[in-house]
Amino acid sequence: MLIDYHMHTPLCRHAVGEPWQYAEQAAIAGLDEIGFSDHCPMPGGYDADFRMTADQMDEYFRMVEEARRRAPSLPIKFGLEADYYPGTEDYVRDLLVSYPFDFVLGSVHYIGDWGFDNPELIEGFSARHIEAIWTDYFDLLRRAAASRLFDVLAHPDLVKKFGHRASGDLSRFYRPVLTEMQRAGTALEVSSAGLRKQVREIYPSLEFMKLANREGVTITFASDAHSPAEVGHRFDALVVAARQAGYTTITRFAGRKPEQVTLG
Ligand code: ZN
Ligand code: ZN
Ligand code: FE
Ligand code: FE
Repeated sequence: MLIDYHMHTPLCRHAVGEPWQYAEQAAIAGLDEIGFSDHCPMPGGYDADFRMTADQMDEYFRMVEEARRRAPSLPIKFGLEADYYPGTEDYVRDLLVSYPFDFVLGSVHYIGDWGFDNPELIEGFSARHIEAIWTDYFDLLRRAAASRLFDVLAHPDLVKKFGHRASGDLSRFYRPVLTEMQRAGTALEVSSAGLRKQVREIYPSLEFMKLANREGVTITFASDAHSPAEVGHRFDALVVAARQAGYTTITRFAGRKPEQVTLG
C-alpha cells in the first residue's frame, strides 16, 4: 500500500488548494489512502503566521469531510501536524482530545525562539556551532517522543534542510531519539519534502532509517504537500529507501490506533 499522511490546507496560510483537490490528485497518483495534517493552532502567538487559529478547527474538519464526500472510494484520514515546543504540551494535549483525529504528527520547527527551518532565518546556522544546533534539535525530538503526545515524528532530521550537517558518525544524534520512540511506540515519518529542499535528500537519512528499522520503529510515508500537485511526490524514491533500510510494511492509523500494512 501507498499512504500519504502529510498534507496541508489553505487554513495554514502557506498552502494552496482545497482538500478535495488533494484527494483528486491522490487518486491520480494511485495512492491507497491519504491523511490531512494541517498545522495545529498554538498558544501565545507561536508561529501564528503559518497556522490556523483555534476557531478554524471546525472548518478544517468540514473541509476534510467535504474531500471524503467527493472522493468516496479513497480512505481519507483526519490528522494534524502538531508542534513540540516546551511549555505548550498542555495546550496541545487538550486540543488532541477535542477532535476525532486518526493520527497526530509531532514536529520540531523551533530551537528556542529560532525558527530554524525558515529560509529567512538561515543566518542562525552561522551564529552557533553546528554540533550544538544538532544536539539541541535532536534533544527536542527526543523530548517530543517522550511526551507521548504524537503518533508519528515528522521530517525527523529537518535540521539538515539547508544542508548544514554535524560531522562524524551521526548515529549519536539518532540513537537517543529512536530509543524513546521505540518505548513510546512512535512511528518515524519518511518524507519526500527534503527532496524539494536545498538538502535534496529524503527525511530521514538512510542511516537514520536503518537504525530505526533495527530498533523496531515503524514508519509512515509523507509528501508534506502544500499544493495538490505535491501529493505522493517521489514516493517511488521513498519505497526504494525504505526497502533499503529493511522495511516491508508501513503504518496505517484509524482513531490513533496503528496497524502495519504491506509497503508498496
Ligand atoms: Zn507548512
Ligand atoms: Zn515541519
Ligand atoms: Fe511541517
Ligand atoms: Fe507539514
